[in-house]
Amino acid sequence: MNKSILNFINKTAEQSITRNDNGPDFYSGLAGQAWFLFHAGLCLNNKKWIKAAELKINKALLEMELIPSEKKAGFYEGSSGIIATAIILADKMKSKKLLNRSLNLWDQEFIKIFTSTDSEDIFTGWAGSILSFAMVWHLIPTKVRKSQAKIIKSWLDAEIPKRGFLTQELGLAHGYAGIAMALRCFSYLEQWKPGLRIANFLEKYIDQNFNSNLRGWESSQINNHSIESWCNGSAGIIIARRSSGGKFNSSTIPEAIKHKLFERVHDKKIDEIPFCHGHTGFLVALELLSKKKNIGPEIIPVKSYRQGLINGHDGVAYYYLNTIMQMPLVLAGIKGKES
Ligand SMILES: [Zn+2]
Repeated sequence: MNKSILNFINKTAEQSITRNDNGPDFYSGLAGQAWFLFHAGLCLNNKKWIKAAELKINKALLEMELIPSEKKAGFYEGSSGIIATAIILADKMKSKKLLNRSLNLWDQEFIKIFTSTDSEDIFTGWAGSILSFAMVWHLIPTKVRKSQAKIIKSWLDAEIPKRGFLTQELGLAHGYAGIAMALRCFSYLEQWKPGLRIANFLEKYIDQNFNSNLRGWESSQINNHSIESWCNGSAGIIIARRSSGGKFNSSTIPEAIKHKLFERVHDKKIDEIPFCHGHTGFLVALELLSKKKNIGPEIIPVKSYRQGLINGHDGVAYYYLNTIMQMPLVLAGIKGKES
């Protein structure tokens, strides 16, 4: 491993250990930090980081009740994502205590938070819940899984026609790309055709709205984030589609985005590097499109440590571990099943 990258991972992990002030969530808080610290500890053989990861995920489970009820269903900002992360980490850590605790919480809380949401996106809504469900599908007891899957299907069957889709956004974080990705992951595992049909429908709509002059989606420039961002733009749409096995309705779309992303990752003026709307997100999408690793310039922050997996430096460091160790592409929320 390159020495400057190794230094950066070390420094980030040491700083991450000391910071606990961004709430419990996966996006920028404790659950995401625990994810990074565990994998960093595993790869670089550092027991202190693994211990810190266990403390952080336990703390996240305690602080989960602070999440406002309208966000609880989500994966990135909600409780479903925190419990799912805890189950996966407990299994990898071989911690029986944490596994029992998180499986109990899953059993008690999951259906309650899933069925009471008014929101639909993967950050805060029902799509986030089914993404979490897909992530722990292999780890929850069969009886629980079967009964929960049945409830999810009949809820989606009844609620989607009734509610339609409230959002107009197309991107991964708050729009159709993320919803389609979650539906695909769930529906593949459950072999549930209605879910795949809705995913296809949403993806077709996204592709119809591609602007070939802009080489992106017009609607993605929200809050001044670039048209290529992971959260609202092209990188997220690429990652969602490629990592859940969906196809583009036209081959010109991934080609156009590939060229645009290539320009972006070699643009030296960029100083925003976190995954969400910075360099790291562009790089992951570009790697998925090119099916190659390490195709960008090295990105190491010049500014001081910023807490968070998706919105901070923990995620940039995890990207390097991910690149080097071939770990799951959990930054997209799932295991990295490529088409
Ligand atoms: Zn963003």
